[in-house]
Amino acid sequence: MKLYVLGVGDTFTETHFTHALLLEAEGFRLAIDCPDSYRRVLRSARDKTGVAHAGALDLFAIDDVLVTHVHGDHMNGLEGVGYFKHFAQKKPLNLHTIAPVKDALWNQRLVASMGTLWDGHEFRPKSFEDYFAWTEVGLESATTIGPFTIRARLTKHHVPTSALVVEHAGTSIGISSDTAFDRELIDFLAGSDVIVHETNYGPAHTAYSDLLTLDEGIKSKMRLIHYPDEFDVDASAIEALREGQVIEL
Ligand SMILES: [Zn+2]
Repeated sequence: MKLYVLGVGDTFTETHFTHALLLEAEGFRLAIDCPDSYRRVLRSARDKTGVAHAGALDLFAIDDVLVTHVHGDHMNGLEGVGYFKHFAQKKPLNLHTIAPVKDALWNQRLVASMGTLWDGHEFRPKSFEDYFAWTEVGLESATTIGPFTIRARLTKHHVPTSALVVEHAGTSIGISSDTAFDRELIDFLAGSDVIVHETNYGPAHTAYSDLLTLDEGIKSKMRLIHYPDEFDVDASAIEALREGQVIEL
């Protein structure tokens, strides 16, 4: 399995893209979160990784997106990607979320901008199903998406948010998404070969100082994401992800 690091920043960033990862195995690609200007996010990573990974980082070849929660820095690109699949590729986007994220994502967000289309003659109401083929990511049992087996767990955040453990062929990647510091969540992620964990300001995020209290075995396989622009990546005692990085397991 390959993990492409597309966006490492937070919602306030002026130097990064916001939270975006891409998993690839057996030719199948699963985007984790979908920030603003998503094709530009892919293009930037492609420019950094080089031609070897060009095929993976092309929106034409990405049909599956998992959105962890409805905050803009994780899903503002979904409208554009949904429209891209609808108009440019004439097919739905395969969307994967826990159930509470799906409800809010359409009914409280996208319906305002995607709920009506003009067909050249008249305005037509459009539904979630006109753009998206949805698969529920279970919280009680594992979910299969392509070659991946995914376990999800709610985090401590402002809105319903899913942390993930993604497994393929005996290896696994844990992804905290957005969360307050939560030792039970750390336990959920701890068996993974790589743990992608957020750090940021405020009570619904995880302070870097809290992550420093974890066991060395956890910290050594932890990679930070969603860090503020001010975070000193070079001085960090826990390795921070960088955009364009590719991790192969
Ligand atoms: Zn959030």
